Amino acid sequence: MDNGITPHMAERKAKGLLRELAVVERLPGGKLMSGGREFFDLSSNDYLGLSFHPALKEAAFGKISRAFGSGASRLMTGTSGCHADLESAVASLKGKEAALIFNSGYQANVGVISALMGKYDAVFADRLSHASIIDGVKLSGARLFRFRHNDTEHLSGMLRAKRPGVRRAMIVTESVFSMDGDVAPLEELTGLKKEHDAFLMVDEAHATGVFGPEGEGRVHSEGLADNVDILMGTFSKALGSFGGYVAVSGEMKEYLINFSRSFIYSTALPPAVIAANLKAIELVKNLHDRRSKLLSLAGYLRQGLKSLGFEVLGESQIVPVLAGTNEAAMKMSWDLREKGFWA
Ligand SMILES: *Cc1c(COP(=O)(O)O)cnc(C)c1O
Repeated sequence: MDNGITPHMAERKAKGLLRELAVVERLPGGKLMSGGREFFDLSSNDYLGLSFHPALKEAAFGKISRAFGSGASRLMTGTSGCHADLESAVASLKGKEAALIFNSGYQANVGVISALMGKYDAVFADRLSHASIIDGVKLSGARLFRFRHNDTEHLSGMLRAKRPGVRRAMIVTESVFSMDGDVAPLEELTGLKKEHDAFLMVDEAHATGVFGPEGEGRVHSEGLADNVDILMGTFSKALGSFGGYVAVSGEMKEYLINFSRSFIYSTALPPAVIAANLKAIELVKNLHDRRSKLLSLAGYLRQGLKSLGFEVLGESQIVPVLAGTNEAAMKMSWDLREKGFWA
């Protein structure tokens, strides 16, 4: 039987695009072990090394002395006392009235967009938006318009042309882009949001913990929290743990509790994870030195690579090197691995 899978996989392999899982053990100090060999880890998002912080692990151990699992979804028995503490800590870090925890950043994006938007609506998303944003739009049934990366002129034209024909509109972007490592023009986007009566949603997955005096991300530190309706983020990157969240108005939070299906129909994160997340938020506020060291090391690496003639993008802790083709990128990655770098 031709199930359609075999030729599809063969084609992927022929193109050098086959993906496989590598087993690794992450080590403190930005290293990892794989196949009995140690590598410098240039691939993980544990930007501040918080996942190894003893206080984070202690917070989790403290909760494990009771039940490990949460037992049910948040609306059943899954909401513990530390959920409320974590939600107020996130709201305060992000400068919003309220916050809602999701089980991952992926689930937050999918659940929020699909709850707010429907078939009479339109989402205007930056062309480099994360897959979870695009999947949320698809699930919502709303029309999707993708504007050129960070191009507010292009977005403005699209809004003028398409906004009048739809019920609700939403503009979505990332504050620090996961692939290109550059940053969104947030202030201009808040202007367009107001002009065209649209929701503005900003994904701060890579900005939280790294940007802003207390790691609050770019939106709040640039004084824009009041003009961003949905501030999304994750505990799984610089915060060194796991889980996602949105910081929103109190009314929006109530709405999402009632209508966001990825929130409603999934078992709550274990209390140990919630406690670790709360500890991570407390710790991250004071990690000024780690934040500035991270950004200065990234700048040093970027300059060094540029002076060696590589084409390098970004203005954050993410340092993308353009290889040209998929094959060239795979080869570069393998060559680096030979030399002890996991990139
Ligand atoms: C990683 C990431 C997510 C998903 O977050 P998880 O908590 O890992 O599910 C969403 N958006 C962006 C931009 C990301 O980089």
